Amino acid sequence: MVEEVKLKRTLKEYFGYDSFRPQQENIIRSVFEGNDNLVIMPTGGGKSICFQLPALLLPGITIVISPLIALMKDQVDGLTANGIPAAFLNSSQQEKEQQEIFRKIELNEIKLLYVAPESLQYIDAVFSAGNISLIAIDEAHCISSWGHDFRPAYTQLGYLKNRHPQTPMIALTATADKATRQDICDQLNIPYATHHISSFDRKNLSLDVRPGNKKFEQILVFLKGRRGESGIIYCLSRKNTEELAAKLKAKGYEAEAYHAGLSHSDRISIQENFINDKLEIICATIAFGMGIDKSNVRWVIHYNMPKNLEGYYQEIGRAGRDGLPSSTLLFHSYADVVQLQKFAEGSGNAEVQLAKLERMKQYSEALTCRRRILLSYFGEIIPRDCGNCDVCKNPPEFFDGTILAQKALSTIYRLREQEPISMVIDVLRGAQNAQVLEKGFQNLKTYGISQDVSWRDWQQYMIQLINQGYVEIAFHDQNKLKLTSLAKNVLFDHQKVLLAEVTQAEIKKSPVVAE
Ligand code: ADP
Ligand code: ZN
Repeated sequence: MVEEVKLKRTLKEYFGYDSFRPQQENIIRSVFEGNDNLVIMPTGGGKSICFQLPALLLPGITIVISPLIALMKDQVDGLTANGIPAAFLNSSQQEKEQQEIFRKIELNEIKLLYVAPESLQYIDAVFSAGNISLIAIDEAHCISSWGHDFRPAYTQLGYLKNRHPQTPMIALTATADKATRQDICDQLNIPYATHHISSFDRKNLSLDVRPGNKKFEQILVFLKGRRGESGIIYCLSRKNTEELAAKLKAKGYEAEAYHAGLSHSDRISIQENFINDKLEIICATIAFGMGIDKSNVRWVIHYNMPKNLEGYYQEIGRAGRDGLPSSTLLFHSYADVVQLQKFAEGSGNAEVQLAKLERMKQYSEALTCRRRILLSYFGEIIPRDCGNCDVCKNPPEFFDGTILAQKALSTIYRLREQEPISMVIDVLRGAQNAQVLEKGFQNLKTYGISQDVSWRDWQQYMIQLINQGYVEIAFHDQNKLKLTSLAKNVLFDHQKVLLAEVTQAEIKKSPVVAE
């Protein structure tokens, strides 16, 4: 057993820290006890030390499986600079370079060896060359197709434990709900792993969700007073990242697009400029950010909805790693939901992905504290509302929306449940567009019965009606709106419907007018 003094001394000497963060010490102790360990700790929580520090004190070498080939060199350089003998093996190296590494392994001159999952073919040679004390699997959620960033190469990792049953393993990730955790341990063959689950509550991150209309204008308002701060805007498509970066540049911001379609050297230089505060804003697809160690990202915006809460939490978690107040903003739009729904349906495990998307959607449409919803998703209950999300700051006011609901539901009924949300709203508001007129909807009894409510408000009310279970979207049938049995109670039994006051809540909320 390692004494506390020795741990602390090593922490100070090699990493420069005076004390461990919550959980780090327990995890490290468990590693020394020879257990397999599963570590779930939010981004920025300090996972690396949980295997880097043991690596220094254990007799042999620690293998780190990491998907971040592009960053391996930087990571290793960083460690070497701190006096930690580290190296990496991947397919980009010359044979000579690799031979040199193997020589050092044999001489026990390397404590940490980073290996890409694609380069596992080297592992047996490493095992025969050196004395392996520990295997660390970084970003372990990549092994699970239930997780949000499945990497096929990771599935081969199950073989490690079979082949080397005596070598303890530590799997680490920032994002895994219960099902994913189980799947990670199953796939890695570590059924008896000790689980270390840290609190996911990142109190310094404010949570904000706004309707996704006039997004660029909203972003400009958001950016006022934030000159020089580092921020990330996540988009769904490469095209979006480029358009957005161009528009921001035109407004005088230092912004760049970042996505997997860029050349390796472009990506590296953008990352470096961002890390060194030479670039304010990165407009990125989710390709960006894994393993980026930048503590002073002050804000993260989701231009589009993420496909699930794990991805969302991971991405917003890149803000405020230094613990200082940081802002996150998610634009919620119906169009994104529809698009993500299509992606999910086309994916391998559509059912799971659709259910996860549904949770994401519920989160963004929530009328209760968002942090509660988010944390409960990861199995954590907080005793009170957070006070640092938009719902807490501007709790919605409810009003008796029965008449509005009756108008909407009877319109859907008169449209014979054959039209999507946009047409229902057009009919309610008496729109005179070609589609309406062609279909003769101007002759319906409910045509134009609610011109007093804006298009946008109607959209919000419709979403609430969907959320409250009065209306369903037929995703397999051109997104036509269908009435549920609950709707019949409203239409025929005068059941009361409460709606949240959107216009008011949004005027209070929308940065376009608020700041
Ligand atoms: P993760 O891998 O969980 O995202 P890192 O291991 O990269 O997190 O650590 C996040 C940041 O916290 C890094 O800047 C790291 O140097 C710092 N850190 C880690 N442990 C400690 C500690 N015990 N005391 C102070 N800072 C720490
Ligand atoms: Zn809250």
